[in-house]
Amino acid sequence: MIIPKESQLTPQQERELEGITKEFGIKLMKINGETRSIYLMIGDERQEEMLARIGGLEYIDRVDTVQQPYKLMARDSGLATHKVRIDGKVVGEGFTVIAGQCTIDPKNPNYFFETAQAVKEAGADCLRGGVWKPRTSPYAYQGDAKSLDILMEAKARTGLPVDTEVMDPEQLDIILKHDVDVLQVGTRNALNYGLLREIGKKINGRKTSVLLKRSMHMGKIEEFIMAAEYIVAQGNPNVMLCPRGTTPTMDGYRNHPDESIAPLLKERTWAPVIVDPSHSVGKASYVPFACLAAASYGADGIIVETHVAPRHGIGDDPKQAVTPDVLAKIIRDARAIHELQKRHLEHLIAAS
Ligand code: PEP
Ligand code: MN
Repeated sequence: MIIPKESQLTPQQERELEGITKEFGIKLMKINGETRSIYLMIGDERQEEMLARIGGLEYIDRVDTVQQPYKLMARDSGLATHKVRIDGKVVGEGFTVIAGQCTIDPKNPNYFFETAQAVKEAGADCLRGGVWKPRTSPYAYQGDAKSLDILMEAKARTGLPVDTEVMDPEQLDIILKHDVDVLQVGTRNALNYGLLREIGKKINGRKTSVLLKRSMHMGKIEEFIMAAEYIVAQGNPNVMLCPRGTTPTMDGYRNHPDESIAPLLKERTWAPVIVDPSHSVGKASYVPFACLAAASYGADGIIVETHVAPRHGIGDDPKQAVTPDVLAKIIRDARAIHELQKRHLEHLIAAS
């Protein structure tokens, strides 16, 4: 809908506006309100170039689009019934739990092997293990390709599918030579469109899925969904959306917890929502509460940093990782809430 600044456009302005929309195959319908006239666009109004040209006309106040700018991620798109699977298991069925260390310590692989076995026994569906890490300081530990072998060894030992973060095309190529099930795109790369497109291209035709974190600086929900659209537009729709906390932070927490956007995401898109409470609250003792909140908000699952001996961990593990016994309780309770949610609250989530 096009809203002019003044109550009426002049015939010349109206002709100019019609000329632009016609170029893009859109018909205009004038609605004569009591105090002003507005114009409805009939056709596909999600055309960036056209919207920019109309928005730039000095006599136009604003353009409100009724349709969403995303086509494939929309809840009413042809992908509405698509199921994202990890190792054949549908994400969200039974509340999906991805757990494991923030960072694999290549000097102490046994911690990772023990963590892997313990998260399996706790009931997790997928094992996480950071190989390369985005660190605020260039002098901090950056990761080590050796950890990828440790991750694959843990996969072979436990039979669990694995998740690891990818930060650039070079790492992507290395990771894709291994049988990694979930590629994690971190909050810092969530707006790196070149990388998102490259990931989409390289996983096309594979079973690999992507866990796309929300950028901590992301404003509009549209921006998050459009980032996922970049990947999906390359042909593989196996994308999970991961709220992980935003800035400015909530005082005392690492970020501003954002599990509450789960219903909003589920209303707009078909993609499963996997909440990351570890990075949102940033402290092991708060993590269980945030996990249960995520289940209450209707998320399809959680990704939880877990370590058999957090104190001996590297990266975020000493601060954030829960121990496997705590993880087991989280899983038990989060799955109970998820069931309750399904039985009693499902009607609150927009019907498909
Ligand atoms: C992580 O999962 O360890 C991580 C670095 O997450 P984020 O990108 O959300 O900070
Ligand atoms: Mn981490």
